[in-house]
Amino acid sequence: MRIDANLERSTLSQIGVSLLLLAMLLTGNPVLANNTFNVAVEYSGEPLSVGRHFQFYEDSAAELELGDILLDRDFGERGLIWQSIEEDVPNFGYTDSVFWFRTAINNITRDHAQLVLSIDYPLLDQVDVFFLRDGKVVRSFMTGDSRPFSSRAIPHRKFVFPIALNPGQGTELYMRIASEGAVQVPAHVMDQERFFLEDMSELAIKCVYYGMMLVMVLYNLFLYASVREKAYLFYVGFVSCFALMQAAMHGVLFQVGYPGLPDLHQLSVLVLVPATMLFACLFSVSFLDLRSHSPVLESLLRWLVLASLMCVVGAFGLNYGSSTRISVLLVVVASLLMLVSGPVAWYRGQSSARYYTIAWLLLLVGTTSMALSKFAVLPSNLFTEYGLMIGSAAEAILLSFALADRLNGEKEARYLAQQEQLRATQERMRAEEALLYTSTHEAVTGLPNRVPLFECLDRLVSEKHVPRFAVVKVSMGRSDEVAKTLGHDNAEQIVAAFARRLCLKVESMSEAMAIIGDKQVVHYEPYAFLFLLELHHTAGLKNLLAHMRRELSAPIEYQDMLIDVGTLMGASIYPDHSDNGLELVKQAQIAMGFSEETEYIYDHSLNPYSERRLRLMGELQTAIEQNQLTLHFQPQLDVNSGRVVGAEALIRWNHPEYGYIPPMEFIPHAEQTGLIKLLTAWVFDHALFALRQLMDKGEEMDISINISAANLHETNLVRNIQAMLSKHNVPANRLKIEITETAIMLNPDNALRVLTHLHNIGVKIAVDDFGTGHSSLSYIKKLPADEIKIDRSFVTDMSVNPDDEVIVSTTISMCHNLGYSVVAEGIEDSTTLAKLAALECDVAQGYYHSRPLPFDDFQSWLATLAEQAPA
Ligand code: C2E
Ligand code: MG
Ligand code: MG
Repeated sequence: MRIDANLERSTLSQIGVSLLLLAMLLTGNPVLANNTFNVAVEYSGEPLSVGRHFQFYEDSAAELELGDILLDRDFGERGLIWQSIEEDVPNFGYTDSVFWFRTAINNITRDHAQLVLSIDYPLLDQVDVFFLRDGKVVRSFMTGDSRPFSSRAIPHRKFVFPIALNPGQGTELYMRIASEGAVQVPAHVMDQERFFLEDMSELAIKCVYYGMMLVMVLYNLFLYASVREKAYLFYVGFVSCFALMQAAMHGVLFQVGYPGLPDLHQLSVLVLVPATMLFACLFSVSFLDLRSHSPVLESLLRWLVLASLMCVVGAFGLNYGSSTRISVLLVVVASLLMLVSGPVAWYRGQSSARYYTIAWLLLLVGTTSMALSKFAVLPSNLFTEYGLMIGSAAEAILLSFALADRLNGEKEARYLAQQEQLRATQERMRAEEALLYTSTHEAVTGLPNRVPLFECLDRLVSEKHVPRFAVVKVSMGRSDEVAKTLGHDNAEQIVAAFARRLCLKVESMSEAMAIIGDKQVVHYEPYAFLFLLELHHTAGLKNLLAHMRRELSAPIEYQDMLIDVGTLMGASIYPDHSDNGLELVKQAQIAMGFSEETEYIYDHSLNPYSERRLRLMGELQTAIEQNQLTLHFQPQLDVNSGRVVGAEALIRWNHPEYGYIPPMEFIPHAEQTGLIKLLTAWVFDHALFALRQLMDKGEEMDISINISAANLHETNLVRNIQAMLSKHNVPANRLKIEITETAIMLNPDNALRVLTHLHNIGVKIAVDDFGTGHSSLSYIKKLPADEIKIDRSFVTDMSVNPDDEVIVSTTISMCHNLGYSVVAEGIEDSTTLAKLAALECDVAQGYYHSRPLPFDDFQSWLATLAEQAPA
């Protein structure tokens, strides 16, 4: 006897089928029985499995009719050899043969028996049943699933045939079975009532099963509708096809769905098996995300998807046998692959794969235990009997659970991703804040830098909330020296210490304005700071800054050293000087340049960086070379006699475009650029030339020439002056050199050396602008000076300002005590002259007598004076 897979089980329980095959191979063929018709079913009231009670004949040519069989029985005409069966379920697998079965059913009870013969395999194509009594056919049924449902003796999904037997009565049974699928005959004889009772409970179980599968399908369909995740759809396809396939194989679909269409019933079985596999493979690929976790398994399963699709299509064309054989192969390969895919994906980190793996294992356990119970390896009970259904239901539930878990996992992953995004955003914001902080603050001091300063200034200027404020710049004047001596790192420490001191000071000032947050001081340049002061009136600002500067100038203690950083300060005022932030800061910087001269507040006229100034500076050299400069002369008169004893030569620049340019505007630049050397030489040349002319006219007077601090550093200054004196043939004692007190104090040692040298060659020395340079008389005393010129700022107003008068009076007497002649400059009226005379001042110079005059005018002035003088 051939052995084959049980199609129903094999197609559904993929792994089970292999085991079933193996088991059947091991159990071997049924044993041949003898040729006598000695088999019978003795019905004693209990249900009977009739497999072993049959004899069968294989009609390989499919040529025999019942008549032929009966003739052979009666007359041995054909010599047919009937074989006995040693199994409960005769199974001949796939075969083209027709099988004849025969047995007798005897009622050995004392009751009338209303029995049924049921053949529990609904996929047999042709089932012809003949009941004979006394050698005659009394009842026959021609049915099978290739015939309409109406051919059935009793309308039932299985093949059920009624048998009525009186007590002790018997009937002969002949069956002809042919099928394109597996030929297996699980036949039972039992009491009709009992059959239907048992059938009802079996149906109840199946209803529960189909109901549950339906719920799973609907639930996941609903989920698919809401989450639009393909895995749900594949799951729905898989479970639907699986359940429909079961229903087709149980015969339910045929009975309920299309009882008149046996062809459709045949086709549905052929289509539903590969369709189930198609969806199972698609589901596995999608659910396990095999593309990420195992591309090899993914492509294998995708090939199977293609194969399944071809099987589905093939079902319409191929014959039943080939189609089912290919499907069985497909099922075996796909089941193995899916069984492997779960653990692989699980191992590669797909956590939901654990449910998938367990789900397929449950199906395997269910089908295997059912298969094993068929071979009595396991006891037959509810679980083993319905193993496939229980396994598949458990699988469906677990896969549904797995989908929910995956949904949950994805939700969690999304949540985590959002969290991560949030964290990244916060991180970025923190980084941006840090970046913003570093871009708006100086690392060394932690103070805001120029960025927030200009934002604040722009705001102040545009909003105009504060009507008047000062921009104050504070700088470490000796920063260069400090950095070069102590190194960059130490310099930074000193800058930080200086900043702390400045901040403390500024914080204590109620007028100080916040620039960013509560920070009031800006670290503007490596060695310079800025702050803003609200001004109610300008008057006190200069004193305030002077006072502050003194406080900030105290040496900084650093590593046992006392470091003098040389504080410089300068301020500009909004809106007086500008209403532009950048401009105000520039002006404060310029004003800082004056702080050496105790001027702290910006003044347009002093701005060395104005356009006019820059232009003038560019043109100065040409002006000197092209004689655009002239000398004016201002007379100096003996206070007592009124005699002209000298004249001060004062340089003038009459610019072709700007007109008269005061020396205070271009001398400082000449000093900075070195042009002062050329300029001074020019002055000497022209002044001595003029003096020579005056001397030639018999004037007995000195000429005073101003020199700058820079001239004191000229190597050949003395020699050049000597050369100039001889050039114009002027004796040295007629030349008086004026140098300001401030210029002397810039480098007192050098000043002393040069001036002594000049003094030694006979030139007279005058200390100019005395009283403004904070020098002490005790120092002046060391200088070889002949004359002290009291600054005109004390003189001009002395007649109205008693303080000035005191200063002038004290200076005159002190200078006389030290043996100096005293010149008062800036005399503008007779009262002042009279006062000076009273104070015994020696020489007077000022507008009262004459403004500085061009040489010709000066000569005329001298002539007029001579005319007026009493002979
Ligand atoms: P200084 O040497 O003190 O010159 C006196 C200044 O006082 C002159 O200003 C003069 O015009 C002005 N002055 C004289 N009497 C009166 C008066 O009664 N009232 C007023 N308000 N002012 C009076 P100037 O000519 O503008 O010169 C300014 C300064 O420029 C000079 O101050 C001097 O320091 C410098 N300077 C002038 N010429 C030269 C020069 O050839 N070489 C150098 N190095 N400096 C020069
Ligand atoms: Mg002078
Ligand atoms: Mg002067």
